[in-house]
Amino acid sequence: MRRNPRYDVLFEPVRIGPVTTRNRFYQVPHASSTGHELPNIRAGLRSIRAEGGWGVVCTGYCSIHPSSDDAPHRYSRLWDDEDIRNLSVMTDAVHKHGALAGVELYYGSSNVRNIYTREISLSPSGVPINTTRGDLLLHSRAMDKSEIRALRGWQIDAAKRAKNAGFDIIYIYCGMRFGPYQFLSQHTNHRSDEYGGSIENRVRLLREMIEDTKNAVGDSCAVAVRFSTDELMGPLGMQWEDEGMAVLELVGELPDLWDLKTFGFEDSSNSRYSEEGYQEPYVVHAKKITSKPIVGVGRFTSPDSMVSQISRGVLDLIGAARPSIADPFLPNKVDTGREDEIRECIGCNICYSCFHEAVPIRCTQNPTMGEEWRRGWHPEHIDQKISNDSVLVVGAGPAGMEAARALGQRGYSVILAEMGKELGGRLLTEARLPGLSSWIRVRDWRLDQINRLPNVEIYLDSRLDENHILEFGFPRVVLATGASWSAGLADQRDVSLPIESAVNILTPDDILGGFQSSGTILVYDYDHYYMASCLAEQLAMDGLSVIYVTPADRVSSWSVFTHDQWYAQKKLLELGCQVLTGHYISAFDGDAATTECKYTAHVDAISVDHLLVVGARTPNLGLYEQLLTRSGELKDAGVDSLARIGDCDVPGAVVHAVYSGHRFAREFDEELHSYQIPAVERAQLF
Ligand code: ADP
Ligand code: SF4
Repeated sequence: MRRNPRYDVLFEPVRIGPVTTRNRFYQVPHASSTGHELPNIRAGLRSIRAEGGWGVVCTGYCSIHPSSDDAPHRYSRLWDDEDIRNLSVMTDAVHKHGALAGVELYYGSSNVRNIYTREISLSPSGVPINTTRGDLLLHSRAMDKSEIRALRGWQIDAAKRAKNAGFDIIYIYCGMRFGPYQFLSQHTNHRSDEYGGSIENRVRLLREMIEDTKNAVGDSCAVAVRFSTDELMGPLGMQWEDEGMAVLELVGELPDLWDLKTFGFEDSSNSRYSEEGYQEPYVVHAKKITSKPIVGVGRFTSPDSMVSQISRGVLDLIGAARPSIADPFLPNKVDTGREDEIRECIGCNICYSCFHEAVPIRCTQNPTMGEEWRRGWHPEHIDQKISNDSVLVVGAGPAGMEAARALGQRGYSVILAEMGKELGGRLLTEARLPGLSSWIRVRDWRLDQINRLPNVEIYLDSRLDENHILEFGFPRVVLATGASWSAGLADQRDVSLPIESAVNILTPDDILGGFQSSGTILVYDYDHYYMASCLAEQLAMDGLSVIYVTPADRVSSWSVFTHDQWYAQKKLLELGCQVLTGHYISAFDGDAATTECKYTAHVDAISVDHLLVVGARTPNLGLYEQLLTRSGELKDAGVDSLARIGDCDVPGAVVHAVYSGHRFAREFDEELHSYQIPAVERAQLF
């Protein structure tokens, strides 16, 4: 198919200093949690973007010196010449597919603790180390002039190594309070010498580092600056309309490229609280100040939004981290007139959670992300079928749909039976919760793909029981019947607690199923992810008086990893919900809930009309167990195998269900159903 001429502008080459990118699709630096330790996984997940048509593919943050050690997080590094080979695995793989390779050189300053290297953290003014993780309070040391000279030298050495490793674009990371940004921001720079005070003084180190890097490698490599234009803390820090623009006015012409974004959680904002293009207010007008190309992000998944950014003169290059993770082949799809096949990012930030958890990146929409090298999974291709068995998939939530889609892609003949009137399972109701509308993309993309496969048939309104399955006699049956929320009170002490009355106890299934009431509702959250805060938000907006209680020390505590925790707590407080953290609900008698402080064991009673328990889920195993009781008949009916996937196997998040369905389809017919460590993973050879 041919490209829509409306998108031609996206495929124009752009000159970036001494190099030229083949198009405007730019995979900006983003964490992949592979770092130095997993070079082959890193090469696999970066180069797949090059294969998918991105013009530039960058590393995540790459440390220039042992005093910039972000352990336990995984980061790349160029500390000495031995590190060159580790990164050239990636540049070779990226170049093979015609893309430019970029490296995000960074110096952490007081944003790193150096707990692996045990070096001292160095910063402009010896401020305490950023303790957002609730860590032990450590301090950095204020740099003297010789240490500033040393930092400049480390950047030069790392840039030379980066060039030797084959990189085409070499960064200075001046954002997120790293390195030179700490000098720029009044918040962290309290110096009184020529590196402190006026903005001209505070920009001095950045200017020197750009000039040093250009002198070192600028003959053949482009030099880029990644700059957080706004610290989002008002006059206490950098503000775009004020000093942000002043920085560009002072050094805007020095680098070959500006990579602009904001700061903190806004940097990769969760879709619960932001729309596509949300970064525009923080970069708009940059092109009026500098003639150098500008790349910026905004969770762009629509080529029309991308064209709009270019034609309105906001950006020159369309930066993407998450859209390129969810669909590494996004540019190729636009190029071949298949933009309706883009697997759009849903903005859930599961990818980001992997960075915080120090495991290789994974994605809700794209189950192959991070598995390109380890399992040899390709996002677009899958081995063709190796038998003529037909498959019955029961249940069309994310697990069942993904299994049916991928089995169909392999060429198997698939029947997908769903008892509801629509495909989508849990997504159908959850995507109606406040802020989750983009989650329906998980269903939509799969539905569209399934509709293109003549060998996958959908049966709606078809609640199957064991008799149907025996009657149909499909040789392969896979159950994807989901899970149900349980009303039981358990908690992180792992004990079941007394419920004296089942009256007035609700689960998320009740609310999602349309339960409506008034009065006071206590939302008890020991799930710790989005569900309880989304429901509390919804109920408060519906006019109920909401009391949110959790044993954790904050609202939706796990969501700190997906960058929506802070906003979720803020929202509940703004909506007037009462928030009680650090408390268990230890009993409920239908009218009053007993709260128990997890520290002091002090108990209290709260009168409520309803208790909503958001905690454990139970797999829907009724059909499976019925079939097991008739296992003798299964064989006679021609059913050779019976499997469970997704939440009916193990309840989890949508990412787990999609992965489970995908893996089932990949390994179907291959007798690989228990975890096998691929031989290559045992030794990270490169
Ligand atoms: P998962 O996340 O594992 O995909 P979901 O709960 O999202 O699980 O989806 C399970 C789907 O299975 C739901 O759409 C539900 O209607 C469907 N389902 C459950 N039991 C049956 C059954 N016996 N026959 C057909 N569909 C079923
Ligand atoms: Fe987008 Fe979620 Fe995938 Fe991240 S994990 S790329 S936010 S869909």
